[in-house]
Amino acid sequence: MTVTEDRAGREQVGERNRVAVIGGGASGVLTAINLLVRSDDPDLEVVIHEASGIVGRGIAYGTNDQRHLLNVRARHMSAFPDSPSDLLDWALRTGRSSDPQGFLPRADYAIYLQDRLADVADDRLRVRAGRVLDVVPNGDGFDIVTERSRSRACAVVLAHGNQPPRPLVAGPGQEPLAEAPWHVANPWQLARLRALPADASVIVVGTGLTAVDTVITLLEDGPERQVTMLSRNGLLPKPHVGQAHTAWVTRVPGGDGPVTADEIAEVVTEECKAAAERGVGWRAVVDGLRPATQELWRRLPHDERVRFLEVHARDWEIRRHRMAPDVALRLQRYRYEGRLHVRSGALASVTDLGERCRVRTTTDPASYDVDAVVNCTGPLSDVRRSEDPLIQALLARGTVRPDPLALGLDTTPDGRLVDAAGSPVPDLHLVGPPRKGTLWESTAIPEIRAQAAQVATAVAERTSRRSLAD
Ligand SMILES: Cc1cc2nc3c(=O)[nH]c(=O)nc-3n(C[C@H](O)[C@H](O)[C@H](O)COP(=O)(O)OP(=O)(O)OC[C@H]3O[C@@H](n4cnc5c(N)ncnc54)[C@H](O)[C@@H]3O)c2cc1C
Repeated sequence: MTVTEDRAGREQVGERNRVAVIGGGASGVLTAINLLVRSDDPDLEVVIHEASGIVGRGIAYGTNDQRHLLNVRARHMSAFPDSPSDLLDWALRTGRSSDPQGFLPRADYAIYLQDRLADVADDRLRVRAGRVLDVVPNGDGFDIVTERSRSRACAVVLAHGNQPPRPLVAGPGQEPLAEAPWHVANPWQLARLRALPADASVIVVGTGLTAVDTVITLLEDGPERQVTMLSRNGLLPKPHVGQAHTAWVTRVPGGDGPVTADEIAEVVTEECKAAAERGVGWRAVVDGLRPATQELWRRLPHDERVRFLEVHARDWEIRRHRMAPDVALRLQRYRYEGRLHVRSGALASVTDLGERCRVRTTTDPASYDVDAVVNCTGPLSDVRRSEDPLIQALLARGTVRPDPLALGLDTTPDGRLVDAAGSPVPDLHLVGPPRKGTLWESTAIPEIRAQAAQVATAVAERTSRRSLAD
């Protein structure tokens, strides 16, 4: 695999069969692997554009803290749906735990993706470091615009991943918190967390899986530190239990017609009761729904999707996206030791004190002086407010449009992006979390690997046809 720096100039060579993959996280790497494996086109060229220049990591697997574990069991994290033991075989070969029920460090998963890409990489693959600022449809292909170059591709797969977190505000209608020594806007700057005083008091805004990782980095290395986690409902993700549970085929509302959010919630509650009567836990019910989730989402009319987001989504998310048992035990220990507190509420005011700040929350009359406020609120949930230049440019030109809930970008069921006029854009595809609005279940590897295979197959067929037509 050739890694090239983003360099000045305009490149036109070999553009007819060049596929540009924008983003080199899990989605981009899995797409590139599938393209290289599935294409029989000798002229194919795959270029991964990755802002950081390092592929395989992305946000999820970019952590260098070995205590940050996958939140999905190893047996479900293979890069290939048709080879479920691929990750376990790799783990065994490379001297790691190959327990199918286990949870590998997330940093190791990045190495796995890099290794699997290296296994299929040849001179058809290039990795280009630099951020793509625009993808402009032009004639029979696209111009790929970065800060310093402009190149051509005949097909493009967007794999740009999760949006950064929405900026923190203290109170409705307030300006985002200013840059300050105490304001950690990006929780993945682990060096900033590690550099905090040994006895720091920290407010972590958010109680999701990213917030959980932040707490581990802060408290495992700083026994004198104190952390308060704060979110609207103060709910932590539920833990996985030690071993995988009995399978439970969860009944879903029948037929093909529309369903309501409340109907789905009722069915889940009833199924949990029925399962409990047979000694089966709710986790089996949630997991049993997984294969039907995308179909149920499709059957929810727009207003019902809105209701689901407002009323049921958080309850679903904490059960669906669970913590590894070791991670849950750590949190339990910190709480028992009085070093971790989990509260419901939001920031009401934050006063700059120089190196520290004074925080008041909406649910507590007292104020607290703390060393840091860390933003773990999760990805921005309205793509129209994205500050990513690529997304702004694509939306402004109407090359793509938001999905109806603006959770991400609108696509056809097979992953072709849809333009502002509602037509699929030829040769422009999307893989990964930004398909959440269309599919709901689109953020984890089991869905991403299937999308990558499907999109790569379609793109490979098209580039092969071009070659044959030459
Ligand atoms: C903390 C965390 C833990 C997770 N743990 C798990 C887990 O255990 N199991 C699981 O199945 N899922 C997990 N997920 C879900 C996760 O979304 C997916 O597994 C997957 O990593 C998503 O990969 P991605 O490539 O789509 O996105 P990202 O990881 O966000 O990567 C996107 C990449 O694209 C690059 N990029 C973006 N825009 C541009 C641009 N314009 N030009 C060039 N490069 C660009 C970025 O630099 C980045 O490297 C986790 C998610 C998070 C956030």
